[in-house]
Amino acid sequence: MTRSNDGPAMTWQEELQNSVSDGEELARELGCDPKAVEAVITRYPMRITPYYLKLIKQCDALRLQAVPDLRELDDPVGMDDPLGEENLSPSPNLVHKYPDRVLLLVSSQCAMYCRFCTRKRKVGGAAMQFSETGFAAALDYLRRTPSVREVLISGGDPLLLADARLESILRRLREVPSIEVIRIGTRTPCTLPMRITPELCAMLRQFHPLYINTHFNHPAELTAEAARACTLLADAGIPLGCQTVLLQGVNDSAETLRELFCGLLRLRVKPYYLMQADLTKGTSHFRTPVKDGLAIMRQLIGTVSGMAVPKFVLDAPGGKGKIPLTPDYITAMQNGKLEFTTWQGLPCSYPLE
Ligand SMILES: *Cc1c(COP(=O)(O)O)cnc(C)c1O
Ligand code: SF4
Repeated sequence: MTRSNDGPAMTWQEELQNSVSDGEELARELGCDPKAVEAVITRYPMRITPYYLKLIKQCDALRLQAVPDLRELDDPVGMDDPLGEENLSPSPNLVHKYPDRVLLLVSSQCAMYCRFCTRKRKVGGAAMQFSETGFAAALDYLRRTPSVREVLISGGDPLLLADARLESILRRLREVPSIEVIRIGTRTPCTLPMRITPELCAMLRQFHPLYINTHFNHPAELTAEAARACTLLADAGIPLGCQTVLLQGVNDSAETLRELFCGLLRLRVKPYYLMQADLTKGTSHFRTPVKDGLAIMRQLIGTVSGMAVPKFVLDAPGGKGKIPLTPDYITAMQNGKLEFTTWQGLPCSYPLE
């Protein structure tokens, strides 16, 4: 049973307990086809917090991110592991792709299961196991690999762990002298903002330099509750970034993204990446043509604060890493001159040497 949202504020644990995770309940809330939902969630789980359900009812663009769609089951293009993460794992749940940083997965749970998730194959499922022995092996690898200066903690969502569990992970990472920076990736400021408590922030601030990259995709997600969560984190001295996924029908317009990125900046969240959707099986209906993203970037660059403009990136299939996708401003390099168009589209040149 979903409790009414009008009563006293729920704790984050209560929000999770009251989340919608079956077709009948979702059908009662949103009037969708319960059979279709059930068919999809036997393969890919669903969880929608009461908080996010309320937002969906107010804004159609949010619905696509959270509500299962039969097209997830009928995708001939996508791959289960588009980023080749399983092949880049020196120990379970550790992905080492770049020379100086690793990705450490610590939780299989998320507050909401995004329908477009790159790790759709395993989030929320039994295939993603986290044991103390696995973590010990990861720590051992990090001690033996001092070229790694940064650990990016992700999942699933690390903030679905209890404070004490997360603290124990952070403490042991901090004991590795070669690790300079810790970065946490979490969508909870967007999907479960009540997770950000003063106690959590007091715990996190012991482990500076600690960064958080969160994940908002639409301006309707920038609620008073989300603002409160970001303020608490920023006031704990945690620099905040945002990784937005470009999604067909959700946020694929310059107007929507401009409002999102400027709104984030007001919350002290720096838009970090705008990500071209990965070739993940079950997500093809979200993918936008690359040229659309480039056109959107062109409309943003120069027209809003440079701080509000993220890097548009593509994560290369097979674990070959992210590359920036940049609109082409250079028109020629000839006769000793770089010829280019300005952000306003005017021709201009500059000496090459
Ligand atoms: C994205 C990613 C990182 C972090 O890359 P940045 O460009 O530093 O944000 C690290 N490891 C893996 C496996 C990644 O996919
Ligand atoms: S919060 Fe992140 S990891 Fe979890 S389902 Fe959404 S995109 Fe995937």
